[in-house]
Amino acid sequence: MLFCEENFDIAVIGAGHAGIEASLAAARIGCKVVVFTINVDFIGNCPCNPSIGGTAKGHLVREIDALGGEMAKTTDACSLQSRLLNASKGPAVHSLRAQIDRRHYGEIMKKKLEIQKNLYIKQTEIVDILRDPKENCFFLKTRTDVKYKVKSVILSTGTYMGGKIFIGKTSFNSGPDGIFPAMFLKKSLEKFGVEFKRFKTGTPARILKSSVNFEKMIPQFGDKKALAFSFETNSSEIKNHSLCFITWTNEKTKDVVLKNLSKSVLYSRETKGIGPRYCPSIEEKFLRFKDKERHQVFVEPCGLNTDEMYLQGLSSSLPEDVQVLLYSTISGLENAHIVRCAYAIEYDVVDPLQLTKSLEFKNVPMLFCAGQVAGSSGYEEAAAQGILVGINSARKILKKPCITLNRQNSYIGTLVDDMTTKGVTDPYRIMTSRSEYRLLLRHSNADERLTPIGREVGLISDERWKRFQKKLRLKELEMKRVKSTFIFPSKRNDETLKSFAISKIESKIKIIDLLKRPEINYKVLKALKVSDVNISKDILDQVEIEIKYEGYINRQINNIKKTQRYLCRKIPNDINYKKIKGLRLEAVEKLSQMRPTNIAKASEISGVNPADISVLIIWLMKLSKKAL
Ligand SMILES: Cc1cc2nc3c(=O)[nH]c(=O)nc-3n(C[C@H](O)[C@H](O)[C@H](O)COP(=O)(O)OP(=O)(O)OC[C@H]3O[C@@H](n4cnc5c(N)ncnc54)[C@H](O)[C@@H]3O)c2cc1C
Repeated sequence: MLFCEENFDIAVIGAGHAGIEASLAAARIGCKVVVFTINVDFIGNCPCNPSIGGTAKGHLVREIDALGGEMAKTTDACSLQSRLLNASKGPAVHSLRAQIDRRHYGEIMKKKLEIQKNLYIKQTEIVDILRDPKENCFFLKTRTDVKYKVKSVILSTGTYMGGKIFIGKTSFNSGPDGIFPAMFLKKSLEKFGVEFKRFKTGTPARILKSSVNFEKMIPQFGDKKALAFSFETNSSEIKNHSLCFITWTNEKTKDVVLKNLSKSVLYSRETKGIGPRYCPSIEEKFLRFKDKERHQVFVEPCGLNTDEMYLQGLSSSLPEDVQVLLYSTISGLENAHIVRCAYAIEYDVVDPLQLTKSLEFKNVPMLFCAGQVAGSSGYEEAAAQGILVGINSARKILKKPCITLNRQNSYIGTLVDDMTTKGVTDPYRIMTSRSEYRLLLRHSNADERLTPIGREVGLISDERWKRFQKKLRLKELEMKRVKSTFIFPSKRNDETLKSFAISKIESKIKIIDLLKRPEINYKVLKALKVSDVNISKDILDQVEIEIKYEGYINRQINNIKKTQRYLCRKIPNDINYKKIKGLRLEAVEKLSQMRPTNIAKASEISGVNPADISVLIIWLMKLSKKAL
């Protein structure tokens, strides 16, 4: 053995979305950290969609930011187009999504790692991990025969461990984007008794911009008033630089795919991996949604300095010649030139039931696991776990208690609770329906819920803390003001309300009661000159939401209490879940397969969400009423 590096507290294996947040958090809390990656030019790589956020994923990004993480700020810095999804629906499901410059995202993150005090990057493959219980440390061995002695290890190897690519009948060991895989680490971890699963995921092709006929597609614009992801970024800085385009598959596309199904990884005897239920390949879409005539395809930019376009919705593992054929059937893609073809990747995953709520291995103290390798899917899910393990690994070294986030205060807590108690049967994707507290866990109040925790662990600077406290004070003042200020009927107010087609007020009314009316908002209050112009829109939005949704929020809290009361309720043996209206397809499948005897057991099944449990409880209550 040539030599050993001795003076690091934490080793982070992987500089992907999980590893970046983990290493930055641990270094900022005060530990000396080394982060390993197979290729430093792919730090923060986005091997799949060039976008950050989306439904519920946008909530995670805001929560990471509220804790003091980096994903949100970096996304704002390389945003190509920003949209608030579900804007026409309730605030619980409002979620940001930004198209990003994929290469620039990685460059910014690499720089942040390079300039971070206490943090050292190393391009090498870790091939072995040994534990020395006497010295209470780990020894990591690299492919180039160097040894590292560290107190704690964070495993965030993404899709690289045992990585295998499938394109039609062709398969070969590889990580994403042509980077070599990590083929040795699994064996080493199995020595610790770590159990694995085999998952897979897929990505669509990237095609050349000049080979696309955009006139045949529908342009998709960013929001006029784009919102920033980070609470630290001024939204006026977010500009929409690029357009996305929408087109659809058709009967001919379906024909090409179904005729060539046998050539897809779905039918390869070689693959054992289970794919993501909520990111299906185009093959799976045509198989699972037979009645659907067409599937939407988004043609998305990958960056400002590249002409590669990403085909969102066309993930596949069909052979390249079939891919060319299927694109040629799609309006606007008839002459598409493939720069990188679509493929599926299979990889080893740690069963998260072996992890505690702080994502530490129950049987291997100081060994943590985060990201895709822990069974999730997505940059946001990975980064969310990354910041948690970075905080907890560092706190354990500094002899401080770990923090656990829970279902009441965050989607991060919901994700970790689901994965470590229910386990995963396919790559876990966060969704708002997974949270029974979703009205409380809005993307817009992530800072109120988590910034105090970020401050407690040392990731929120004094300046930022002061700004945050000022925001809370202003919100409190505004809440007090609307609760105590009356507005009186007057000719002027009647005319103003009339200009908004709102009926006049008959008698004096408190602003808070006026705001409870669905047609009244701060724009109307401003016109009535009863709104404090010095308070920022995001604070006024929070006040308005809390006033308008107070009833729903209380009902949600009561529902949760009711669920807790019903946990022991027995479920009849002969129940036919297909007959229960409102149960999601995944829940029907899982409940029919597992046949739980009571509500508590039903709620422990992976893929059965709190919303499904509420539907089941209501159904059982009706059943018992009928029996009476
Ligand atoms: C083909 C493909 C398709 C995908 N499709 C989707 C999708 O449709 N929807 C979705 O939500 N997500 C998808 N993803 C998944 C997901 O978004 C990413 O994998 C995400 O990057 C996971 O982040 P991570 O930090 O866990 O790991 P990664 O970003 O994969 O980073 C892993 C890091 O570990 C390093 N590493 C691994 N092994 C070693 C070792 N032994 N020694 C040193 N360094 C090591 C690598 O160099 C890399 O830096 C897809 C991923 C791929 C590859």
